[in-house]
Amino acid sequence: CWGAQAAGTEAQHSLSGPSKQQQRGMAKMSHSEATNTFIVEALEHLEYPKRLRKLLLTPEREVAVELALLRDNGEVATFNAYRVQHDNSRGPYKGGLRFHPQVDLDDVRSLASLMTWKTAVMDIPFGGAKGGVTVDPKDLSERELEILTRKLVQALRPILGTYEDIPAPDMNTGAREMAWIFDEYTKFSGFSPGIVTGKPVWLHGSLGREAATGRGTVFAIRELLKAQGLGDIRNKSFVIQGFGNVGSWAAQILYEQGGRVVAVSDAYGAVANEHGLEIPELRAHLAANHNLASFPGGVVMPPENLLSVPCDVLIPAAIGGVITEDNANDLQCKIVAEAANGPTTPDADHILRQRGITVLPDIYTNGGGVSCSFFEWVQNLQNFKWTEEEVNAKLERVMVEAFQAIWELHTEDKIPLRTAAFVKALQRVTRARVHRGFD
Ligand code: GLU
Repeated sequence: CWGAQAAGTEAQHSLSGPSKQQQRGMAKMSHSEATNTFIVEALEHLEYPKRLRKLLLTPEREVAVELALLRDNGEVATFNAYRVQHDNSRGPYKGGLRFHPQVDLDDVRSLASLMTWKTAVMDIPFGGAKGGVTVDPKDLSERELEILTRKLVQALRPILGTYEDIPAPDMNTGAREMAWIFDEYTKFSGFSPGIVTGKPVWLHGSLGREAATGRGTVFAIRELLKAQGLGDIRNKSFVIQGFGNVGSWAAQILYEQGGRVVAVSDAYGAVANEHGLEIPELRAHLAANHNLASFPGGVVMPPENLLSVPCDVLIPAAIGGVITEDNANDLQCKIVAEAANGPTTPDADHILRQRGITVLPDIYTNGGGVSCSFFEWVQNLQNFKWTEEEVNAKLERVMVEAFQAIWELHTEDKIPLRTAAFVKALQRVTRARVHRGFD
């Protein structure tokens, strides 16, 4: 069941951000409405004509498929899966594939849009896309997961390509799934390592890719602290929500740089230590016991209290929509560094602005991941391999340059960093689109 179609209608997509009714909280804003609210704010700052909104806000293609899986127990299960290609003005569509029970078309649509602005703000030559399967991978065996991933490639194959649309890891997917994707695509198209990024290092992946989103987040925080005259990472306190690939690498690198990670959580529990958690030990404990909260080097705490633990920098590194108008007043941090995609709702963002809490926006903060994906893709095209030092040095350069671009706009135009990041991204995407023409 191919659901390929051109950009949706205005009825499907909110082009104007939230209505007054939604702003009063009478209806909950969807993920894509929330993302569009931020984009519209930047469009208004740029004084772009309203007629550009549809072009910039609506995805270019949305694909919805149903994947049938023969379970280990002999029963057939079906799963909804999506790929949304938002914009390719600046280069091939690029973005991860997420396996999560909360995945739906609206969620993927908003994440695809964020990828367009992320690749633009990082100034890497890609567009934006995202995909996902509505599934809790914990419910499947490894064999079932592999078959599901291969079926996803079979379904999406007509719209993927090394110069068309390049998937990558996202929530609950990693090098293992990318290896399956590479293999499945290669069966049809011959050797094409550049079809997917985030592959295992020993299977055409890039050194440094796994840690890149966490490492990039730490570069982003370092640059902000420097710009605000607040010193460096050493002895600052950090709280991290989410201890998957992004959160655990950010924790590790902060720890190595002398930062104090005072509390972390995952979907099942949270653990705190005001003197700083021993992150290498915590990572080893989690790998062995699959239970963060039982770590002996800290005290267990309810995960719902994590966001209000006092710290210098709060790092949401899990699912979107976690900082809301209901808890934004409880935060006790100076900086929110958005390692997750879309963690802050527009209402909460407004409250944080009023409270003087600086928000390092997702489209910049977690842009190290896709930047390193670009490095992996370039290495694949060159059939060449860079050292980890080379990769990390390039990552540092793109993170620093992107920071300087948005900090300059933030200080000159007196706009929040989030608006500055969207303004920069919108300028780059519209410039590409206009210069390519519309025929
Ligand atoms: N899923 C990551 C993100 O949200 C990485 C995407 C990529 O490398 O293409 O930025």
